[in-house]
Amino acid sequence: MKRVGLTGGIGSGKSTVAHIFEVLGIPVFYADEASKKLMNEDEELKNKIKKAFGNNAYLNGELNRKYLSDVVFNDHEKIKLLNSLVHPATIEGALHWMQGQTAPYVIKEAALIFESGSNKDLDYVIGVKSPVELSIKRAMARDNITEEQVKARMDKQMDAESKIRLCDYVIVNDEQQMLIPQVLALHEKLLELAAKN
Ligand code: ATP
Repeated sequence: MKRVGLTGGIGSGKSTVAHIFEVLGIPVFYADEASKKLMNEDEELKNKIKKAFGNNAYLNGELNRKYLSDVVFNDHEKIKLLNSLVHPATIEGALHWMQGQTAPYVIKEAALIFESGSNKDLDYVIGVKSPVELSIKRAMARDNITEEQVKARMDKQMDAESKIRLCDYVIVNDEQQMLIPQVLALHEKLLELAAKN
């Protein structure tokens, strides 16, 4: 079974592309959702977060998202510390999930594949590329936030173009090219590669 990463910038269309692969019967691990679940349910991770950020990081056993985001807000070192706890747990969670799958290939959808080093565990990485202005417009509409808020989020990630350069395959999500034929072509290619070894 091949392990395939799916990444791209904020609002590029990663989740949209991942849903098309799911329609084709390919299992998808959503890293963002999984990390939120782990922060609420994984006792070992919860203890590490409490040790690093204080008991206020949890309220009645639930992650106190507001407290934690205030603490790490614009503090590069604290964000790094939080990521150093959450990323390994998420990577381990993905690997464990993959072991239970039987499809010819599986997909891990994650914004921070290269930033977290999880590309080391993957056979290929697909990048979703979309013009930055369009990504901003889509993220603004989806989350009902301002252009400045989207840009502030973007500033916290590796820039989308550098990410795309590191990918093995690229899906273009602009207003000209259709997603479904591109995903179908890549699906055929990945099935072929998975059948070879
Ligand atoms: P993030 O990293 O911010 O979670 P993402 O890369 O997963 O974003 P999506 O959530 O898939 O991006 O897409 C952003 C928004 O744009 C969504 O509301 C989605 O429905 C819409 N969108 C994405 N691609 C298209 C498209 N080709 N046509 C129309 N709408 C699209």
